[in-house]
Order: sequence, then C-alpha cells, then structure tokens
Amino acid sequence: MIYDLIIIGAGPAGLTAAIYAARYKMNVLVIGEQIGGMVSEAHEICNFPTYKKITGTEFTKKLKEQVENLKVEIIYGVVTSIEKIDSLYTLKINLKEYSAKKIILAMGSEKRKLGLENESKFVGKGVSYCATCDASFFKNKVVGVIGGSNSALTAALLLSKFADKVYIIYRQDNFFRAEKMWVEEVENNDKIKTIFNSNVTELKGNNVLEGVKLDNGQELKLDGLFIEIGSIPNVKLIESLGIELEKNYIKTDEKQRTNLKGIFAAGDITNNPLKQIITACAEGAIAANSAHLELNSEKNS
Ligand SMILES: Cc1cc2nc3c(=O)[nH]c(=O)nc-3n(C[C@H](O)[C@H](O)[C@H](O)COP(=O)(O)OP(=O)(O)OC[C@H]3O[C@@H](n4cnc5c(N)ncnc54)[C@H](O)[C@@H]3O)c2cc1C
Repeated sequence: MIYDLIIIGAGPAGLTAAIYAARYKMNVLVIGEQIGGMVSEAHEICNFPTYKKITGTEFTKKLKEQVENLKVEIIYGVVTSIEKIDSLYTLKINLKEYSAKKIILAMGSEKRKLGLENESKFVGKGVSYCATCDASFFKNKVVGVIGGSNSALTAALLLSKFADKVYIIYRQDNFFRAEKMWVEEVENNDKIKTIFNSNVTELKGNNVLEGVKLDNGQELKLDGLFIEIGSIPNVKLIESLGIELEKNYIKTDEKQRTNLKGIFAAGDITNNPLKQIITACAEGAIAANSAHLELNSEKNS
C-alpha cells in the first residue's frame, strides 16, 4: 500500500500533523518510537493554552486519545532508512518497508550528555536525564541538577518534593534562558541551592554515584545527578538524503517545507528557535496542511 503521508515521530509535532492529515482524509501512517515523545518526561506543563497545569503523562494520554479517535494508523518502531525511488519515499523499520508520496520528519531531539568519564556507567546508578521518571527514587536524598533552562529548573522543583536538598549547578551567572516564574519558584524554595559559574568536571563513586567535583575545586556529596543541558536533533536518519540543515537542525520555510520536494519537517528537529509543545504542534499542523495542498495540486495537474 502506498500512503499519502508518513509521519516519522509520535511526539506533539507528529501527532498534531496526524490529526490535521486525518481530518483532510489523507491516507496517513505515523511511525514512532514512543507515543508523546519528550512531553511524556515533562513534570508539569503550565504554558500550553487551555491547561493551567497538566502533567506530561496526562497531556500525552489526551493527545493519544484524540489521534486514536480519528483512527490514525500508528506503528511503534524506529525508522532506520529513507530512500527516494522515483516520486515515492520508502522507509524501512526492521525488515518491513512502507512507501508514501509525502513525508513529515518529526523526530525531535535527544538529551545532550555531559561527556564525562563514568557518565554512562552511572546511568541508573545515580545519573539520570529524566527527573519526571526518576525523582521519586531520591526521597530524603541529596541531588544535583546541571543546567539553567526551564527543563533544569522544573526538574529541580520536582526533585525538591522528594529530596532533602537539591543543588542546581549552572555554568552561567544567572538563569537568563528560563521563564521568570520558574526562576522565582526556585529562588523561593528553601531546599534548592544554586551554584552559578560552575561546571562538573568529575563524577565520583565506585559502583554508584557518590558525588561530583566542580571546576572551582568544590566537591559535593550527591546521591543523584540530573543532567538537563539541552538536546541534539535526531537528524542521523536523513544524513544521506541531502536535506539542508542549519546548525544541525532541519531548515524549513514558512510552510514547513525542506529543500527536498515532498519532505516536510516539524517540531524540535527544525531550526525554529522556540523548542516548545505549542510550536511543535503549530509546525505539525502547518506541515500537514502543506503536504495536503501539495498532494492536491499534483492530483489536479
Ligand atoms: C523535562 C521536559 C519538560 C518540558 N516541559 C515543557 C513545558 O512545560 N512546556 C513546553 O511547551 N515544552 C516543554 N518541553 C519541551 C517539549 O517536550 C518539546 O518541545 C516537544 O516535545 C517537541 O515535540 P516534537 O514532537 O518535536 O519532538 P519529541 O517530543 O522529541 O518527539 C519526537 C519523537 O520521535 C521519535 N523518533 C526519533 N527518531 C525516530 C525514528 N527514526 N523513528 C521513529 N521515531 C523516532 C523520538 O523517539 C520521539 O518520541 C519539555 C521537555 C522536557 C524534556
């Protein structure tokens, strides 16, 4: 079967694109590693219109229900290659192939690692990249959070509900990247102490993480360390296609078109500077609309 549209990635961008495509009655398939994408890791979402406050898990559940209600076909898996054969794109997952006339790339990004020795050894043994997933393991413990963005501050606030003490370690001298409301909450939280102008240079411990060393010479005893230092776009899959990138993110125009005809991109994987749910959803909607219009104009020509 040849689909009108295949969407790669089932985060907010991909699923919103699916909602629009289904309502345009396109024959659409979503292929995603996991439903909800990064949103499922969000502790509390307070900046999405219509919800004063909603957890990432609840948001994901509602999005999934909406897509399922439209009977969109979803396959759980990782696309390992995309090939262009004549006017069609053929995607591989394991040994199966799926072809479509149009593709939307909505693969988001992956958490950036510190790159320190022992970092991978301590994952699950004190080091974590997801406070929402792991915060409850640190009841009455002492933990650190590295980073200064909204993600880092919200991770620290969540951790403060479990841990006795939370250190935020940030290389800059203020939280200029974060929303003022989160900064105020952090400043007013007695359990959270911020250490500015500092980088972690060493992870200490034998079998489990026991602490960190900072570049100012200071050593902190920690039971857990949450790394929230940004992300890297998932563009490996498209390396051989010749899609134009800008600082490693997919370059799109105002219609979410890439430089390759028939391939659109949406969400955290694009060069949009605001990596948020609302922008991912908006780009997903625009990408689906553009794919729909392009397909219709081809049918009518
Ligand atoms: C802890 C945390 C808290 C956050 N809080 C907020 C908040 O309060 N408000 C807000 O607006 N934003 C928040 N964000 C940001 C928000 O989650 C992202 O901007 C949003 O999820 C981006 O959506 P996306 O669909 O572009 O990508 P993603 O959500 O990253 O989804 C992409 C999906 O594609 C999958 N994928 C990748 N490669 C392939 C492949 N080859 N085949 C199949 N699937 C693939 C990935 O596994 C992933 O599931 C938060 C993020 C984090 C990490």
